[in-house]
Amino acid sequence: MFDTAIAGSLPKPEWLAETGKLWPRWQAEGQALSQAKLDATLLWIKLQEEAGLDVIGDGEQSRQHFVHGFLEQVEGIDFEHKVEMGIRNDRYKAMVPQVVAPLRLKGRVHAAEAQFLRAHTKRKIKFTLPGPMTIVDTVADGHYHDRVKLAFAFAELLNQEALALQADGVDIVQFDEPAFNVYLDQAADWGVQALEHAARGLHCKTAVHICYGYGIQANIDWKKTLGGEWRQYEKVFPALAASSIDQVSLECIHSLVPAELMALLAGKDVMVGVIDVASDAIETPEEVADTIGRALQFVPRERLLACTNCGLAPMQRSVAEAKLRALVQGTALARQRYA
Ligand code: ZN
Repeated sequence: MFDTAIAGSLPKPEWLAETGKLWPRWQAEGQALSQAKLDATLLWIKLQEEAGLDVIGDGEQSRQHFVHGFLEQVEGIDFEHKVEMGIRNDRYKAMVPQVVAPLRLKGRVHAAEAQFLRAHTKRKIKFTLPGPMTIVDTVADGHYHDRVKLAFAFAELLNQEALALQADGVDIVQFDEPAFNVYLDQAADWGVQALEHAARGLHCKTAVHICYGYGIQANIDWKKTLGGEWRQYEKVFPALAASSIDQVSLECIHSLVPAELMALLAGKDVMVGVIDVASDAIETPEEVADTIGRALQFVPRERLLACTNCGLAPMQRSVAEAKLRALVQGTALARQRYA
């Protein structure tokens, strides 16, 4: 009951990359960088195991950014001439690569770290990929000139990599779709269809993570404009409930998302965010268990998983480690309370 997992990313050690940044510069190159990425992956596998998590991830230590890490292995993208683009409906600006030709995978994207993860833990493993709609929102399109066509082109490539991850022994493939909380009508329409296209043929568990973003200032400011009730999930959840995706990850603790929206996910596993990524304060076991208790009003016990609200990448490492322990301790308390 109540498996525990992180959403995806964890902070990179200072010897791997710049800390506290969403697009950090690597501290090494070539073979030394490849080795450093795997060393950091091993560090976080062990720290997750020691904290007591049930589902282990690679902490996204091998990718510079959760979207651009995937794009680096895609042919048809120009990384040399990045352009500034407003992303998530202009919430913030980023320097993004451009699509300049038909898209194709150059080869495997995450084979090294996925196989490494499988080899170094006996627990269930989850691997994250960016969702098609979120990729479309994080790259400049100089070729397809159509967001839907571009999304399905990416979905095709994501599907190839997802099937290969499954063959590597991954138990859960998760697609990250923060853009679903921004483009509400499009998400419920073609966003979920593109997501299902990316997940087709998978017999391992499939998941989608939909959040209000990393705990960076632009996101904190944006949340202040969303009013007293955040009902963004209301449009996309029914479409996801009708989809082939098995699990949905959402923000809960310290958010203004009405808990009853979780009832719209009937039939799905719900990964409830019980750890805040926008605050360095460490959650108490009681806070975590209370959050699980609120979700249990709308989610059956056997369908509830405890998770972080979003990735922990921009946080200090010591804070992230303490939050992993808080997640596990609070969930243990919830198991006692709600057994
Ligand atoms: Zn997130």
